[in-house]
Amino acid sequence: MSDHEAVRTPADTSMPGWYGILPPPKAPEVLRGRHKADWLIVGAGFAGLAAARRLAQLVPNERIVVVDAQRVGWGAAGRNSGFMIDLPHELGGEHYGGSQDHDHKRIRMNRTAIEFSASAADEYGLRKFFVRAGKYHGAATDHGVAVLREFEKHLTGLGEPFEPLDALQLKEITGTNFFVGGTFTPGTVMAQPAGFIRGLAEGLSRRVQLFENSPVTSLQTGKLHTAKTAEGEITAPRLILTVNGHLESFGYFKNRLLHVFTYASMTRPLSKSEQTAVGGEPHWGLIPADPMGSTIRRIGDRIVVRNTFTYNPHMSTSEKQIRRIGAVHDRSFQARFPMLGQAPMEFRWGGHLCLSLNSAPAFGEIEDRVFVAGCCNGLGTVQGTLYGMLAADLAVGNNEPMVADALKEPSPIQLYPEPLMSIGAPMKLWAMQKRAGREL
Ligand SMILES: Cc1cc2nc3c(=O)[nH]c(=O)nc-3n(C[C@H](O)[C@H](O)[C@H](O)COP(=O)(O)OP(=O)(O)OC[C@H]3O[C@@H](n4cnc5c(N)ncnc54)[C@H](O)[C@@H]3O)c2cc1C
Repeated sequence: MSDHEAVRTPADTSMPGWYGILPPPKAPEVLRGRHKADWLIVGAGFAGLAAARRLAQLVPNERIVVVDAQRVGWGAAGRNSGFMIDLPHELGGEHYGGSQDHDHKRIRMNRTAIEFSASAADEYGLRKFFVRAGKYHGAATDHGVAVLREFEKHLTGLGEPFEPLDALQLKEITGTNFFVGGTFTPGTVMAQPAGFIRGLAEGLSRRVQLFENSPVTSLQTGKLHTAKTAEGEITAPRLILTVNGHLESFGYFKNRLLHVFTYASMTRPLSKSEQTAVGGEPHWGLIPADPMGSTIRRIGDRIVVRNTFTYNPHMSTSEKQIRRIGAVHDRSFQARFPMLGQAPMEFRWGGHLCLSLNSAPAFGEIEDRVFVAGCCNGLGTVQGTLYGMLAADLAVGNNEPMVADALKEPSPIQLYPEPLMSIGAPMKLWAMQKRAGREL
């Protein structure tokens, strides 16, 4: 028997644009009273819902319950930029790539997860939220172009297709002449993240019971595991924790998870004349040449800007921090779309990323019949899906070769001791963002 009190529960603040442009959700079902299940999943993001879907396939007659502290899509799953990337995408690296062996394996795993999501998109009619559009990388400087050309060499070595782009081609796509060169890779899915994750939860609700707005405040693990919330509790012999950085809130992976926030702003709908002034294609997603630069998406009549990372070891941000970073978004937006004048933002938000110093996920069986899938290093739309699926396979005892591969991966290593982290992490982020220069 061991007890795990949650020292904190999620408190995501500010309406994420992706959620705000959807119709309001149905009233939530809150966990009240005592319940029993065969499987309990805590966390209904990409990892949790992938675990639930995989379990529903593997053990169709067993009772699967998912509990989330918030509404589905209110957490990072509905706050992200929606790039479901098949290729290596090492955020800490110089050009997003790693070693060849590692990258081949990564691509195979990422594509398995994307196909798993694609089958859900087909089954639940979510294709409008899940589009195989590919992604653009855009460079704002000659240095950025050189980085992308290195990335292209790496892709050639991996045997992966891409298309190099010049400034004119990027202007035809994005409407702005801000970018001096770029690269297109075809395998990325562009998701409306809140629409997709909510649709996934609704689709699964035929097979899986979901409780929302029900923060789990304590876990008692043993022969039967018990999760308690303010108004109820649920017991199950098998537990899958897919709470991302909040693993640490329950005392798991202590001093191994790095809690970073990143931020986005979404415009109001642009008028027809504003859209004409912007020009370019109506739908595209662009990743900066420098991982610390700005990600930009156009979704028909709206544009979304994401940039800036902050170190938030207490796993929350504030309206003040979101407003301050909103000013950075406005500068990035105006540099790219000067034809629109003042940035017409309707939504601004921040969201929690869980990183580890060695880019390793939190995956495996951490106590008897307690499984985890989390800490996807900012790439959780695909890798959360992957490790969620694999956690279900592992828990059921399904002998998937990918489970064995995932178990061989390193675990998150120890962070530096205090006060090195609280002084060093913000300084390092600041220096990396400074280095991004015009890419920001
Ligand atoms: C602005 C932004 C842009 C991003 N862009 C991208 C991108 O383009 N592509 C990409 O792949 N990734 C992106 N990410 C990262 C991505 O959103 C995360 O990696 C992903 O959401 C992680 O999935 P997850 O299921 O592991 O965790 P989460 O999505 O964080 O889900 C965990 C869930 O657990 C719940 N929970 C936590 N504690 C408790 C508790 N005590 N009780 C009950 N429930 C609990 C939370 O409410 C949450 O819903 C971005 C993130 C942000 C913030």
